[in-house]
Amino acid sequence: MTDRHAEASREGQERAKGPAGLPPEVDVLVVGYGPVGAAIANLLGRYGVRALAVDKAREIFMAPRAIALDNEALRVLQLAGLEEGDFATVAIPHVRMLSPAMGEFGRINTLGQIDGHPKLVTFYQPELEAALRRRAAEYRTVRTALGVALTGLVEDAGGVNATLDMGEGRTATVRARYLVAADGASSFVRQLIGLDFTGQTYGEDWLVVDASGAKDPIDHVEFLCDPRRPTPHMIAPGGRERWEFMLRPGETREEIESDVRVSELLAPWGGPSAMTIERRAVYRFHARTADAFRKGRVFLAGDAAHITPPFAGQGLVAGLRDAANLSWKLAWVVRGRAAPAILDSYDEERRPHAKAMIGLAKFMGRLIMPQSAAKAVLIHGALRLLRLTASMRRYFDDFGIKPQNVFPRGMFVAGRSGARLVRGGPLPQGLVRAADGGVRLSDDALGPHLTLVGFGRDPAEALGGAEASNFAACGGRVVQIAHRGQARRFRRDDAFEDLDGALTPGAAPFGWAAVVRPDRTVLHDGPVADVNRLVRESLALLGTPVAAEAPLAAAPALSV
Ligand SMILES: Cc1cc2nc3c(=O)[nH]c(=O)nc-3n(C[C@H](O)[C@H](O)[C@H](O)COP(=O)(O)OP(=O)(O)OC[C@H]3O[C@@H](n4cnc5c(N)ncnc54)[C@H](O)[C@@H]3O)c2cc1C
Repeated sequence: MTDRHAEASREGQERAKGPAGLPPEVDVLVVGYGPVGAAIANLLGRYGVRALAVDKAREIFMAPRAIALDNEALRVLQLAGLEEGDFATVAIPHVRMLSPAMGEFGRINTLGQIDGHPKLVTFYQPELEAALRRRAAEYRTVRTALGVALTGLVEDAGGVNATLDMGEGRTATVRARYLVAADGASSFVRQLIGLDFTGQTYGEDWLVVDASGAKDPIDHVEFLCDPRRPTPHMIAPGGRERWEFMLRPGETREEIESDVRVSELLAPWGGPSAMTIERRAVYRFHARTADAFRKGRVFLAGDAAHITPPFAGQGLVAGLRDAANLSWKLAWVVRGRAAPAILDSYDEERRPHAKAMIGLAKFMGRLIMPQSAAKAVLIHGALRLLRLTASMRRYFDDFGIKPQNVFPRGMFVAGRSGARLVRGGPLPQGLVRAADGGVRLSDDALGPHLTLVGFGRDPAEALGGAEASNFAACGGRVVQIAHRGQARRFRRDDAFEDLDGALTPGAAPFGWAAVVRPDRTVLHDGPVADVNRLVRESLALLGTPVAAEAPLAAAPALSV
């Protein structure tokens, strides 16, 4: 089928709606339209995939949950199409760890930016989810259905038939090539496909209180690491603050949520008369990972795949990494640009990293909630001592302890090239200037493509005819990133000037090229003179050229 016919056929299928407005078949069914499902829906929309996202809830979940996002999460949200101002954030200058016995014993500097985004912000989760839903509604190929629960699924060689409960006794069946379960920590899909959720559940409960309107709110994040009552406390947008209070033995969920007890707990900050309490909820935290993130045509993402205590602020962040990693792979496969084998790399790349982040959160938990006063003095004292040496202070204060998002194994050409770019790691992001003078972040300039980037030189000059056409057929785009001030010949809209030097130094020496995945992971790199080999080896890894996947078997009738 030619591209034009494939596109026409896709549009035809898009128009064929079942009686309930649900398409009878889609490329990807996303189960769960929380923040991770919504990010995936947006990314699939950007890549032109026919997707349906369903959620059993009709409304966005309002209880207090995620509050912090790092630069990596903000970059994924940028990839998913969110723009500055779509949801409010507060940049956090530092995170302080305080002990009642010895004052500040730890500090993480979060001032400044990495890859075009603040290192750490706080935000309001319902506002982010609303923004993601608004953006997803702009994609012609993305459908959403709320108040619709997945109740069963049957997989065969060509796809998955999902049974959906539409409410009021109605059911529907939708057939999809692939199903993404973003249905949260108690994922029904994970149970249906028989994957274990291995790890531990903590023994303690925590009361989370969100309040607004205090006269003099905190402007950073602090962990009050008092073993009698550990209390993280932080600023959030909209004049909000959050406190998380660990319950003591004998305290119950019911009594700790009462107005009297919340007043007592907030007394050091002026009590409820000094602020408006917006939300309160008691949680028990878990540290668990699914035994695999993929089984057949079903993929787990977000809390369905991994759940972490919130001490490192990495639960949703990890889910957003899943979204970026998985969405382009599904898109490239269903659009016939890559072989289905690339989908195995999702589990290979994401599961070890998600586990490492849970390890970090557990470590932070030990700092924040030591189990006795003696352990507190020991642990906090040791960290304080370690920070007396400059290198250790830098390691802790600059959060060097945070696992890097660099894959040891996965969908990239193995080995190091000699340049500072790391295959299997992220391409840096910075500000670039286009031929028309417009300045933008480099990810926006690269767009939703597989990209051959030439640093310094234009890689198109060295790219051969066959490689150029094969690369284009695989959704590839060829881009030049020139050094700032470098004389360059702007080709159409595909040349940019690296304004802050974020991209080009990493690619030194002069005249370097990289093949970059749509999720901005470096797939391959080498001298510009070798671009034909780089492209050939990259396409071989993707398994392209491949014929488009076999069309779905006749869709079952939609019964509503
Ligand atoms: C107190 C607390 C603080 C936190 N702080 C942070 C933080 O600072 N930073 C951070 O990154 N993370 C944090 N997290 C974690 C973060 O909130 C979660 O990781 C995130 O909300 C998970 O998103 P999700 O989309 O994977 O799942 P969810 O938001 O749980 O969404 C799952 C969706 O699936 C739907 N669903 C379930 N079953 C079905 C079905 N059968 N059919 C259809 N739909 C279904 C549900 O209705 C729901 O809407 C925190 C969590 C808590 C509890």
